[in-house]
Amino acid sequence: MSPADLKLAAATPVRPTVAFSPGIRRSMQANLPRDTRPEIALRSALHREGLRFRKHYRPIKGLRCEVDIAFPRAGLAVYLDGCFWHSCPIHGSLPMTNRDWWKWKLDTTKVRDKRNNAALRAAGWWVLRAWEHESVEQIAERVRTALRRRAIFVRSC
Ligand SMILES: [Zn+2]
Repeated sequence: MSPADLKLAAATPVRPTVAFSPGIRRSMQANLPRDTRPEIALRSALHREGLRFRKHYRPIKGLRCEVDIAFPRAGLAVYLDGCFWHSCPIHGSLPMTNRDWWKWKLDTTKVRDKRNNAALRAAGWWVLRAWEHESVEQIAERVRTALRRRAIFVRSC
């Protein structure tokens, strides 16, 4: 276990024991959704502007930290967080059924997001997190600005 993983293990909420039917268990244990519609829309917008990036990129060896949209040369990590899965302050909610389990699941995601931010920053990356409720144009503008600043920052180092 890396130090980051140990920290995560210490901070991770305790998983409640809930009895699910096997089918429900499978779907609930699945990883967070990838390639969501907003993510695809953002990627095509960035691509149209001539920006080149890697998707589902793991910049840190040995750490399960996947960046939605990564600009490895600029060292910029972009996340597009789903409002439900990442507990958006405006649209986040806790399902009524299996509440304890969902609370655990969503809390665990929050802890992992924080750990990934910290691990990336420690490795010299800049982290940009956007919500899926933001407009694609707005996010693309934030990405462009970050890339410009990052280029200046990298040159001055
Ligand atoms: Zn939201």
